[in-house]
Amino acid sequence: MSAGTLIVGASQAGMQLALSLRDAGERGPITLVGDEPYAPYQRPPLSKCYLQGDISFEQLLLRAQEYLANRDISVLTGELVDWVQLEGEGPSGVALTASGETLSFDKLALTVGASPRRLAVPGANLDGVVYLRTADDAAKLRQLQHEAESVVVVGGGFIGLEAAAVARKQGKTVTLVEATDRLMGRAVAPVVSDFYLDAHARRGVTTRLNAEVVALTGRDTRVQWVELSDGSSLPADLVIIGIGVVPRTELAHQLDLVCDGGIVVDRFARTSNPNVVSAGDCTVQPDWRTGSGKVRLESVQNAINQAKAAASTLAGGVESELPVPWFWSDQFDLKLQIAGLWTGHDYYVVRGFPQRESFSVLYYHDDDLMAVDSVNAPSDYMAVRKALTQGSTIRAEDACDVSVSLRELIRPLSGDIRRRRHRF
Ligand code: ADP
Repeated sequence: MSAGTLIVGASQAGMQLALSLRDAGERGPITLVGDEPYAPYQRPPLSKCYLQGDISFEQLLLRAQEYLANRDISVLTGELVDWVQLEGEGPSGVALTASGETLSFDKLALTVGASPRRLAVPGANLDGVVYLRTADDAAKLRQLQHEAESVVVVGGGFIGLEAAAVARKQGKTVTLVEATDRLMGRAVAPVVSDFYLDAHARRGVTTRLNAEVVALTGRDTRVQWVELSDGSSLPADLVIIGIGVVPRTELAHQLDLVCDGGIVVDRFARTSNPNVVSAGDCTVQPDWRTGSGKVRLESVQNAINQAKAAASTLAGGVESELPVPWFWSDQFDLKLQIAGLWTGHDYYVVRGFPQRESFSVLYYHDDDLMAVDSVNAPSDYMAVRKALTQGSTIRAEDACDVSVSLRELIRPLSGDIRRRRHRF
């Protein structure tokens, strides 16, 4: 009997890969193995409605048990794969789990995700210091938050800001500590960071920018203070750390796969060993516009698209689209939606009204539309995503006219821009 396909990592990418592979006609066994004790579930709500207590864990689950059983997909939970080896260059090989299980495979996919980056300061292991990546983390945080009064959030990215918003909505005193000079520096341009700084302040979150945490201190084993390098101390009976993630590349290293800030894959989700595919937060991939470079995209959309490409590759196909990346973040009543990537822009225009908390920022490079950040402006976001997807544009000089919907302003590219834009 064939050993089948082993997918290491039972989250969004792994689940999608298993389903797409079955849909692509794979008849052999498909095994999804994950170290968490649960079947694959959605992570984005963990820092939003799940943290708030608005939905149950069951509502996070991606697929019901019967659905997977009907497709003959086995899910092995609570098993950490800590060793893997190929026969020669693969694709077959064998993996071992920490509990001593041996898993032989004919084909291998790594959808191993990323781990929260740890805060390396004295006191970081005190009780009341939490990270937010898994359902267990979120459940623990929910409980601790219930009892806490003063919450300090370390890290002003999506996770930190979403967690800060939930804590504030629950009436806590919330201080957010960010190491750099602006919020969400990885995801948005300074103009949007500035807006969010003010928006959080208006809702009662105190933010300390350019602040370095040097220690967490407390009484006995419990955290009480966050000490900053300028000598100030913030009272805290709960510290939430959201300082980014580190891709899990241990298995990739064992297989001698090329890693560079993540497991390097091409647009077919092939690693440097074309017999092994990888998808999701653990990867870096070519930029969607240029087809070159190494971009790490942490999003559900990316996990799904890369997993589909990986399944197609494993099934012998060539699905290889690099779609327009998109992201979202919910903080208080502010819905941030992003399409495209803003890095490399040379100017931007603002459409709408930041003071009314409904606006969009459109980014351009050489007059070519690159990306949009929309705050409570979903139709702007959809229009830009559509324009980027179909290879059209919206001229900057038109975009600010709020009397016309952006959708109506989508135009074909000028010859100049078409020649410059490198699609492949
Ligand atoms: P996530 O999406 O998980 O929130 P990001 O990488 O987008 O992750 O954001 C993490 C944020 O944490 C960044 O704004 C980064 O500057 C900030 N950060 C990283 N290390 C520290 C630190 N030691 N103290 C405070 N902020 C930090």
